[in-house]
Amino acid sequence: MALSSRRIRLIIRGAVQGVGFRPFVYRLASELGLTGWVLNSAQGVFIEVEGAAETLQQFVQRVETDKPPRAFIQSLEQTVLDPVGYTAFEIRHSEESGEKSVLILPDIATCPDCLREVFDPADRRYLYPFTNCTNCGPRYSIIESLPYDRPNTTMKAFAMCPKCREEYENPLDRRFHAQPNACPECGPHLELWDGEGVCLAKHHDALFRAAEAIREGHIVAVKGLGGFHLVVDACHDAAVRRLRERKRREEKPFALMYPSLQMVKAHCVVDEAEERVLRSPESPIVLLRRKEADSVAPSVAPNNPYLGVMLPYTPLHHLLLRELGFPIVATSGNLSDEPICTDEHEALHRLAGIADLFLVHNRPIARHVDDSVVRVLLGRELVLRRARGYAPLPVLVKEPLPPLLAVGAHLKNTIALSVGRQVFLSQHIGDLETPQALQAFRHVIADVKELWGHQPQAVACDMHPDYLSTQAAHGMGLPVRPVQHHVAHILSCMAENEVEPPLLGVSWDGTGYGTDGTIWGGEFLIIREQGWERFAHLRPFRLPGGDRAIKEPRRCALGVLYEMLGDDAFELLEQVFTEGERRLLRQSLRQGVNAPITTSAGRLFDAVASLTGLRQVVNFEGQAAMELEFLTHDVHTDETYPFSLCEGTPPHMLDWSPTIQAVLQDIQEGVSPSLIAARFHNTLVEMMVVVARAAGIDRVALSGGCFQNAYLTGRAVRRLGEEGFRPYWHQRVPPNDGGIALGQMVGAARG
Ligand code: ZN
Ligand code: ZN
Ligand code: FE
Repeated sequence: MALSSRRIRLIIRGAVQGVGFRPFVYRLASELGLTGWVLNSAQGVFIEVEGAAETLQQFVQRVETDKPPRAFIQSLEQTVLDPVGYTAFEIRHSEESGEKSVLILPDIATCPDCLREVFDPADRRYLYPFTNCTNCGPRYSIIESLPYDRPNTTMKAFAMCPKCREEYENPLDRRFHAQPNACPECGPHLELWDGEGVCLAKHHDALFRAAEAIREGHIVAVKGLGGFHLVVDACHDAAVRRLRERKRREEKPFALMYPSLQMVKAHCVVDEAEERVLRSPESPIVLLRRKEADSVAPSVAPNNPYLGVMLPYTPLHHLLLRELGFPIVATSGNLSDEPICTDEHEALHRLAGIADLFLVHNRPIARHVDDSVVRVLLGRELVLRRARGYAPLPVLVKEPLPPLLAVGAHLKNTIALSVGRQVFLSQHIGDLETPQALQAFRHVIADVKELWGHQPQAVACDMHPDYLSTQAAHGMGLPVRPVQHHVAHILSCMAENEVEPPLLGVSWDGTGYGTDGTIWGGEFLIIREQGWERFAHLRPFRLPGGDRAIKEPRRCALGVLYEMLGDDAFELLEQVFTEGERRLLRQSLRQGVNAPITTSAGRLFDAVASLTGLRQVVNFEGQAAMELEFLTHDVHTDETYPFSLCEGTPPHMLDWSPTIQAVLQDIQEGVSPSLIAARFHNTLVEMMVVVARAAGIDRVALSGGCFQNAYLTGRAVRRLGEEGFRPYWHQRVPPNDGGIALGQMVGAARG
């Protein structure tokens, strides 16, 4: 087994059974000299192949491009794993036994066949926005109960016309048992409403007039697949700024939908892996490096070198974008952080004052499903928000689990439930900060429990007593199993990479409740067969103002400097606080009142962002750290700052004060913020290397919100690899708190 060899697991779902798919996979793997196996199961076609990374990439590409003519891929899950040393390639016998739990597919982007029909003037579905077939269309967003049959979907109110019925009943037809099958005769239709809900136009005329309004700079709420989008012309700066004001969203980037891949490539740098994800059945928002020449309005993504881009994924979006011919902002239809709106009557209230017009339809949405967000890192998918196209596909764990429910964390909440070896992760729910979000959280729990007929024996939650999710867990009348936040991050990363203990987990994020009651966030945890140990952590400092420090990086800077210099810290920060503020802050720090202790790596990032003058106050969580990452784009250096590992009895402490000292010196000497940012990132990575050496464990898992940072993660993976460690990072489960529920599940099951 060569050192550079890898194992890839593919789980392919769709029309891949009984169409010669397994022999095709066998031939392809043999031709490329790959070892492993292919297997049919009730959950789809499973493939494991082992070989050199490049050959594996070729294999995945050719599975898609060379597949048998009648095969259609609805979902392709790819996970990179450690090699196990297969010596040949074989077709394994179908798994008849195993868990027969029902598979609920995610919503699938429009297939090429349906697309052709929609744009064919001779076809009976010409310009029909709800065209779908067995290979594509809504699934999770329309299912009300199981089994997946039309009467159990939100299509139940639409009686199929004779032509549709014929397709539906003909085993040779592409629409055989396509539950949402519909046509202009019998299916849902579009309407354009004004703010009062008065219908202004129907059918294609509604779409045509909505397009006209968008072209004129108006904001149109569009009811899509899993909820409403708010849509404006992405090149119309005044319109985009109006949307920001009305939605009360100051600077957080807006997602875009482009008419074509070609136009995406004109505006952004797109590599092969990114192109594959953009065009995949999952069709998520992909973070792409923008080109200088993009014509997108500055207010779409201020100070951001990335654009969040997706391609149309329903016929409705295809028709609208074809009509417009330019990219649109397609942001979730909600007010700031509330959950996405799914019902047109509700939309009239909730989006009143934001949208000028409403392009709606009468196919109900059974549950909200936001657009997923993906970034390609080191050639692999890194899911940052897991929803449409991914939810509710399960993560497979090694041992069967008892029926458990995990309620997730506080921010970017998702929940999970276990059925045998499968852990179903819910779609993104959001930050549990508004009554609407909390309601959505309760609703999703009730929903998934009913959908899977799930009776949990116990409920896993965070240790934070104030999280609304924790409180909800305690109100369920079930045994509660709290799992420490940063342990859950690492267990989540281990589960999706199928790594066993012992392992060193680098768990870095903004905030998590520690077992000592302080705020953790710069943790090195050793996970053992039995239990875990806090092996090391960043040097603690105080956060004056507590949660306000999340919004104000300058408070993080003050906390860091106060830890190093005491009262002298205030002199260094004279510019960024008023005299009154300084007086209050001094009091709070001296007395340790409303200034909780933290080891947070995220807040250390904020502190450095503040010191370099990048940003003193942020508009959304993580903004300063993100901007510090962006600065590294212009620099190529391996330089680092000093730091020290204070070893005693564990937990050891990583002292960043020499680092901050050096940062201050660089600032004084006028070193560019970009270079400071790169040196700082490099230093953090060396801290990981040094702790990994001290721990003497060769497997290292990277998890927590900090590992959304591509520079940090990419460099950590490289450096740990160079030093002989085996790094693991996230792929299809978010490294941020969106992945916590999976870790809680595993933690609770292990006890
Ligand atoms: Zn189709
Ligand atoms: Zn019909
Ligand atoms: Fe976290």
